[in-house]
Amino acid sequence: MNAKQIKEVKALLNKPKNIVIVTHWSPDGDAMGSSLGLYNYLIQLKHKVSVITPNDYPSFLFWLPGNKKVIDFSKKPKPAKTLVAKADIIFCLDFNSLKRIDKLGDEVEKSEGIKFMIDHHLQPEGFAKYMLHSVKACSTCELIFELIQLMGHKKLMNKAIGNCLYTGIMTDTGSFRFPSTTAKTHKIIASLIEAGAENADIHNRIYDGNTENKIKLLGFSLSEKLKVFKEYKTAYFSLTQAELDHYKYQKGDTEGVVNYALSIEGIRFAAFFVERDGIIKASFRSQGSFDVNVFARKHFSGGGHANAAGGMSELSMDKTLQKFEELLPTYKSALNKK
Ligand code: 5GP
Ligand code: MN
Repeated sequence: MNAKQIKEVKALLNKPKNIVIVTHWSPDGDAMGSSLGLYNYLIQLKHKVSVITPNDYPSFLFWLPGNKKVIDFSKKPKPAKTLVAKADIIFCLDFNSLKRIDKLGDEVEKSEGIKFMIDHHLQPEGFAKYMLHSVKACSTCELIFELIQLMGHKKLMNKAIGNCLYTGIMTDTGSFRFPSTTAKTHKIIASLIEAGAENADIHNRIYDGNTENKIKLLGFSLSEKLKVFKEYKTAYFSLTQAELDHYKYQKGDTEGVVNYALSIEGIRFAAFFVERDGIIKASFRSQGSFDVNVFARKHFSGGGHANAAGGMSELSMDKTLQKFEELLPTYKSALNKK
């Protein structure tokens, strides 16, 4: 945003408006943290604010302040459609293409509300009038913090916003360990703790609420489903619907599993394929120069970041895994680079 746009947005937010916040399909900690962080900021300015998700999200995020107000479009399409149609402003958080919000994208596109994208994914599409976009930002939550500062409202930071933004920064940086974590990230985190963010409790709420089934599913994945290809520095897992059903899968139960594959010494490329509702969802992670955003875009109709991306496949699980394994030799030299 340039100075003129900042002035325009300030003027826009100066009077109470109907505001809708939307975030990506299968929201994660950053998606919900940024949406509810922005919500807890905007309600202080007396706007009428609604947060709409395309579908459901893991229960370890339900404690976030404002969560009770969230509308799931897949469960309540009618009120969600009305809110989007009547919105003066629609904030699009943590996604770069309307495809990422599925059918909700048609409603957002149709609405005359002013679109404002706040995001950190590569190659954003140009559907928004305003954009606060940086691929250098560790998370969308970091950009929400910047927006509040740009609006001159640092004084409005409070515990609710602090808890939300801390959550998104923590989850998107792998608890402050990915290279996206900078001195700036830690400075923001310090400000959030000063504003009341309950840092130690947040780690507990997000990471220590595992069910017995979730841990057993992880154990099964690690011991039975991991495949390692040393010559391609690659490791991957896959889980079928029947395997998920056996462990009474709940939303969020496989979050982070892909990182175990990446944690093996010498592995630079990790993948996770999971069958849900008839399609295969893929997660890709890398360390170093291998660009999984490019890989996901090219072969699995997806995208994301250079070291963390996702995609999907409409082939059967067996065919998807065969396709993946057959791709590896073509990337042999790229995978063996530092
Ligand atoms: P995850 O593997 O945790 O689902 O996603 C990793 C990263 O890739 C996230 O930043 C997420 O927003 C992005 N991502 C996941 N799935 C897709 C997809 O199907 N399309 C695109 N464009 N990005 C995705
Ligand atoms: Mn994010």
